[in-house]
Amino acid sequence: MEHIDRSFTGMDAVFATHEHSDHIRGIGPLIRKHDIPFYTTEGTWRRASSSIGKVSSLNTIRENEPVHFDELSVEPYSTPHDAEESVAFVIRYQGKSLGIATDLGRVTPEVKNKLKNLDALLVEANHDISMLEAGPYPWATQQRIKSGIGHLSNEACGEILASVKHPGLKLVVLMHMSETNNHPEIAKITALQALGESSPKMILAQQNHPTELLSV
Ligand SMILES: [Zn+2]
Ligand SMILES: [Zn+2]
Repeated sequence: MEHIDRSFTGMDAVFATHEHSDHIRGIGPLIRKHDIPFYTTEGTWRRASSSIGKVSSLNTIRENEPVHFDELSVEPYSTPHDAEESVAFVIRYQGKSLGIATDLGRVTPEVKNKLKNLDALLVEANHDISMLEAGPYPWATQQRIKSGIGHLSNEACGEILASVKHPGLKLVVLMHMSETNNHPEIAKITALQALGESSPKMILAQQNHPTELLSV
């Protein structure tokens, strides 16, 4: 937040998509320190409450039921992932929309539908299939990642991009990239091929470095 010249003071909400530790590990201390209201599904809360701990303002969200903050809305949609009631979000503000699609094992018609006509898309490009298969992860973990409730490969990310690209899509951020089972250049080339002629700005998010502040 400091990197992008923003502060936690007065923040309206923290949303959690699902209970996996890479997503919730820091939430408890963050929302307690700054007294930020917390939003998540019933299923995620059931699985995550013991590791998150005490929450002063818990708000339950459901798929397809947008949460409103003045002119801004956050709409959760269901994701195929090995977590209980996992979701991702489409955020709308003053006629602009931003879609988030990470931690999903496959591209369903519903996902493609939710991500249509966006101005910005933050999408998972988790692994390159051949790097995953040749890599150091145990067989069972590889199967989990590749499954329909695991993570999106570069090719699956390309499938989403090819399906939802339109002239109004101005920004694409490749997210949740594995440092072990992917290479940024491979992910980027696959995404660019899928986008074809249309050329939105493309950013690759990194695990341990904040992404620049982006505007749409
Ligand atoms: Zn994750
Ligand atoms: Zn996950």
